[in-house]
Amino acid sequence: MSTELKYHFASDNTSGVCPEAWQALEEANQGYQPSYGADSITAEACETFRCFFETDCDVYFVFNGTAANSLALATLCRSYNSIITAHEAHVETDECGAPEFFSHGSKILLARSPLGKLDPADVERIATSRNDLHFPKPRALSISQSTELGTVYRPGEIAGLGALAKQHGLAIHMDGARFFNALAGLNTSPADITWRAGVDVLCCGGTKLGMAVTEAVVFFNKDLSQDFQYRCKQAGQLSSKMRFISAQWLRMLTNDTWKKHASSANVLARRLSDALGHLPGVQILYPVDANAVFAKLPEKIKTGLKERGWVFYSFIGGGSRLMCSWRTTEADVDAFVADATVFA
Ligand SMILES: *Cc1c(COP(=O)(O)O)cnc(C)c1O
Repeated sequence: MSTELKYHFASDNTSGVCPEAWQALEEANQGYQPSYGADSITAEACETFRCFFETDCDVYFVFNGTAANSLALATLCRSYNSIITAHEAHVETDECGAPEFFSHGSKILLARSPLGKLDPADVERIATSRNDLHFPKPRALSISQSTELGTVYRPGEIAGLGALAKQHGLAIHMDGARFFNALAGLNTSPADITWRAGVDVLCCGGTKLGMAVTEAVVFFNKDLSQDFQYRCKQAGQLSSKMRFISAQWLRMLTNDTWKKHASSANVLARRLSDALGHLPGVQILYPVDANAVFAKLPEKIKTGLKERGWVFYSFIGGGSRLMCSWRTTEADVDAFVADATVFA
């Protein structure tokens, strides 16, 4: 008998499209509309972003996070520049060199990052280590919010990095593939953890939140976004039927729909971590600030769960990574924990 594979916790992109985004797609499917973002839904979605962030930002929609990050970083850097980021950063480990490719050679420099968060002292060490022309000139700081280890920077931590970046002439890029999970876990405004803290450009994640194929690139520093639309087009990231992307964003940013889904994922991650943490031999590796649980599982639990069909990854962060999404239910969590308990 073959066991059915269960991808519930493998990633927050194994879930489908949430009902609200699906409904927005359906509603946008009316008649004819101008293409390439010239439609009224796109204008309204961009305006909604400006209200959400309480500032006059420039917004562009692309299809995925790798494109968002690498095109944004390419905008901040010239080919001889460097980007300071964390060891675990997605731009370093999971984008197949796209930031280097699109920037035509900007070098990524890795700073210490306990619990996945950049250590300001080490950022400063790298930023000031050399100023001769043989070293790639530091120009950008890339911060992931939430981090790849499921932790969340507090507003003061981002503001601290922002001040440091300003002092050393670094622009700030925020990889927000899970920005809404971070935001839902903090008692703060979107503005306070972005532009008010010094962030120049945010890659705002839609897909993992529950939307179909979209991330928004939000420029708070509008000087930097001058020719961004050309970059998107050249990279094959300009959607001709843009209204289907913008309609989803419009819906998700309305009535706190983003918050409903992000909070639900976060709460269930905590439920999962609390329950797993009680099993003998299981160690929860990092604070569960958002929708990720990293657990060091005894080998027999790990193999037992895999035998029962649960799929999850164990190559990040020194343990097994379990992700929750908008679709995760209490029953999913309890079923996973029950199976883990059998092998504990
Ligand atoms: C998922 C993810 C991305 C985006 O990945 P794509 O597969 O290119 O959409 C970017 N950054 C982080 C931290 C991620 O987890």
